[in-house]
Amino acid sequence: MGVLTTEPLGRSGLGVLDYRAPEGGCGDGDFVEVPLGPRRVLGVVWGPGEGRFDRAKLRPVTRVLDARPMRAELRAFLTRAADYTLTPLPAMLRLATRSPGLMEGAATRRVYRLAGAVPNQLTDARFRVVEALRAFGGAAVTLAELTEAAGCGASVVKGLVKLGVLAEEDAPKDTPFPLLDPSGLRSLQGDQIAAGDALVAAVVQGGYSCTLLKGVTGSGKTEVYLEAVAECLRMGRQALVLLPEIALTADFLARVQDRFGARPAEWHSGVTMTERRRVWRMVAEGGASFVVGARSALFLPFQDLGLIVVDEEHDTSYKQDEGVLYNARDMAVLRGAICGAAVVLASATPSLESWANVESGKYARLDLGARFGAAEMPEMRSIDMRAEQLPANQWISQKLAAEVMARVEKGEQALLFLNRRGYAPVTLCRACGQQVGCDDCDARMVEHRFLKRLVCHQCGATKPVPVACPSCGVEGRMAAVGPGVERLAEEVSARFPQARVAVLSSDLFGSARALKEQIATIADGGADIIIGTQIVAKGHNFPHLTLVGVIDADLGLQGSDLRAAERTFQLMRQVAGRAGRAEGKKGVALLQTHQPDHPVIRAILGGDEEAFWSAEAAERRAAGVPPYGRMAGIVISSPDVAQAFDFGAELARRDGPLRRIGAQVYGPAPAPISRVRGRHRVRLLVKAEKSAPLQAALAEWVAQFKLPSNLRLAIDIDPQSFL
Ligand code: ADP
Ligand code: ZN
Repeated sequence: MGVLTTEPLGRSGLGVLDYRAPEGGCGDGDFVEVPLGPRRVLGVVWGPGEGRFDRAKLRPVTRVLDARPMRAELRAFLTRAADYTLTPLPAMLRLATRSPGLMEGAATRRVYRLAGAVPNQLTDARFRVVEALRAFGGAAVTLAELTEAAGCGASVVKGLVKLGVLAEEDAPKDTPFPLLDPSGLRSLQGDQIAAGDALVAAVVQGGYSCTLLKGVTGSGKTEVYLEAVAECLRMGRQALVLLPEIALTADFLARVQDRFGARPAEWHSGVTMTERRRVWRMVAEGGASFVVGARSALFLPFQDLGLIVVDEEHDTSYKQDEGVLYNARDMAVLRGAICGAAVVLASATPSLESWANVESGKYARLDLGARFGAAEMPEMRSIDMRAEQLPANQWISQKLAAEVMARVEKGEQALLFLNRRGYAPVTLCRACGQQVGCDDCDARMVEHRFLKRLVCHQCGATKPVPVACPSCGVEGRMAAVGPGVERLAEEVSARFPQARVAVLSSDLFGSARALKEQIATIADGGADIIIGTQIVAKGHNFPHLTLVGVIDADLGLQGSDLRAAERTFQLMRQVAGRAGRAEGKKGVALLQTHQPDHPVIRAILGGDEEAFWSAEAAERRAAGVPPYGRMAGIVISSPDVAQAFDFGAELARRDGPLRRIGAQVYGPAPAPISRVRGRHRVRLLVKAEKSAPLQAALAEWVAQFKLPSNLRLAIDIDPQSFL
């Protein structure tokens, strides 16, 4: 039989190897342990073997693991996802087997329960144990739980076991998640009703469908798709909601609890190993009906997935940019198509890709217009920074400062948005003009005053802020240039000394929990002025917020990225959407810009989204770039710059397989970030027509070469950014 292992070996590097069936046999999808050289590795039975080998020489499967077999649907999904992203299948399998202790099988724990008659004469301590067990209502409990509840030592419990009063037994450690109750009625309103009906109908119909659910922040998208989740649960099928950021879940989990009476299963990097194991097993066994997670939750072994929601579908964090390069939004659509699930892509500012898929009739579209209740979209205006005379080291214009002051005096909140972490983006020597860069990367070091260090945002390397210039040696002339959120906070504290200031930046919090707490405090009114990076744009609800000031609206417009305009448009609208969510308080968003006439800035202010998209779509169509053409990024990296370039040039020269499908190769060129962690990076870009069989051609092209051992090559299908 063929077994797909998690090791990249085997026929044509696919990782499927031939093994002999174990005693008692095994079937497709079974999780197995197989010998591989001197090791034993995890694998999944992947159809019949090739049969090219002498049966007598085949090694047998060591054992079949105690886990539900992987369903054909998930196997098909992994295969298709591997083909699409040009990823070796074993790497895909690793994504789908991220359950700690999978090789060990179901974990058990020792538990105690009442077994025999309780004698009349018991010591006080023993009696307390019996009472404690009765209080647990007949449930089996662990020794730790029992001794804690009874206030006694372990020996007391053991004594009762000897007496036959208590029974000691092993029970599975992974327990099902509490049942969710979908019966509660919600009253959708206005255009929420039709949208809710349409999504419920898609779930009831049962097969694959894909719907873009578009509505401004606060219009009730979550409320509407939770109706579809409820329907899915009523049908006894499983539902998955993907969220882009852990910080989003605090608010979200509370809402699920409120709606369904219990919390869903959670799957993201902040979840403990024990809980991960439980979620993975329960998803496979049907003991978890609703999962909320980050992108990797897409690879869980659902039994019967009926609905996948991708919330904030435009979010760039859905693109995994290390290891297996995949876009979770696109993979969600793929899995939905394979397993027959309704897919919902929700966003206030959809990606141009999804917008184009609606235009071409591939996706349905539902619009939620007005905000729920009385709150309206904020009024948006620009502040022309060319006319502002700001003193050195100040970034808040007089106009914006006056508006902030007015909010603070009224007891309302103001948010100042600057998408730059740290204190200052540049540290330079005033004597020689040299900027401090990272030793290993082609990047400037960013000062983080909070950490008292310079940090490379590329590789994470840090060093102390130098007293003497590393280049010319002159002391005491090092200066911080430009603002990051920490520096902006300094300006705010100086100019509004009476205000309570909170800074929201992902790096200022040791843990996701600390960040969640800060967000909750702000939502409760625990700050007057909030300073934030892009994490504030992601769906948090701050009811007291009535003013948003964007410190540098031009920031995202620089750079040569294909999606720069789209991203800036989305980010600005998301941030602006933070203001005025509360009823009766009209929000204002002010954008500080040096280019008030830039088409993107005008589209943001004008609020005409369809016009923006049509214009952007026309431009991309004319250029033949995504979503109207296809692209792949090739990044070659090596410690040796010449080797990387030579290899890139060789790739570009032998482009026969690409030319045959009419694709063009651009490069090699130094990647925009030309050095990371000491490795030089060279990139090529492949452009093809939308209908061209790009993956097959790329595979054939790359297969012509043997990679030198110190050289790495990564292929990024549909690259999101060009780094
Ligand atoms: P979105 O997901 O589009 O940002 P939400 O679903 O979070 O919007 O809705 C915004 C706020 O309005 C939430 O606090 C939500 O509870 C409330 N809300 C929306 N629709 C309704 C409704 N039909 N009934 C009660 N509350 C609603
Ligand atoms: Zn670095």
